[in-house]
Amino acid sequence: MTDEFTVAVDGPAAAGKGTLSKAVAAHFGFAHLDTGLLYRAVGAKVLAGMEAAEAARSLRSDDLENDSLRTSAVARKASEVAVIAEVRAALLDFQRSFAGRSGGAVLDGRDIGTVICPDAAVKLFVTASARVRAQRRFAEMSAIGIRDTFDQVLADVQARDARDMERAEAPLKPAPDATVIDTSELSIEEAVAAAVATVSAARR
Ligand code: C5P
Repeated sequence: MTDEFTVAVDGPAAAGKGTLSKAVAAHFGFAHLDTGLLYRAVGAKVLAGMEAAEAARSLRSDDLENDSLRTSAVARKASEVAVIAEVRAALLDFQRSFAGRSGGAVLDGRDIGTVICPDAAVKLFVTASARVRAQRRFAEMSAIGIRDTFDQVLADVQARDARDMERAEAPLKPAPDATVIDTSELSIEEAVAAAVATVSAARR
């Protein structure tokens, strides 16, 4: 008997998906995959000179554990390589097999509920206004010594939103059956409580 249970968490950059997904996974004892790291790792390889589709095909789990994946340059390149169909196709199996593991899995990204796991038991779409998201990202980056200005961070967030929502391949949008959580006016605790309540209701 398999006890597969997939929670798909999608939303734009810096909406709180990562924090929320980690908290849901810890609460229910599920595994967690930040799928943005896959695209970031491909972006980092491309910045180092590799061709994008080849970088996606040669990706290994070690490549996901690299601090440089958090920089804005890598994030920007990630959203550029993410428009390439061959890149998305090369990353599909890894994500689906992670989702199908026994014991439950939370995957967060842009197309988990729409493309990767259309049959997920729970789909959450986590969002917040661009200004609030840029403020959060700016605070995180300042805390680790990255010196971009607020206006640069806001412009990056808006450019990434546009690229992620307007692309032809797996554009960012809520699945029709997703529960939308707008975190603009919620504390982390309130957002986590809303997500945990949605997952608990689906497990009954
Ligand atoms: O979530 P994160 O900001 O780390 O993602 C980096 C970029 O990777 C996103 O802007 C998006 O273009 C791409 N991405 C994607 N599909 C996913 C996860 C991330 O296209 N499932």
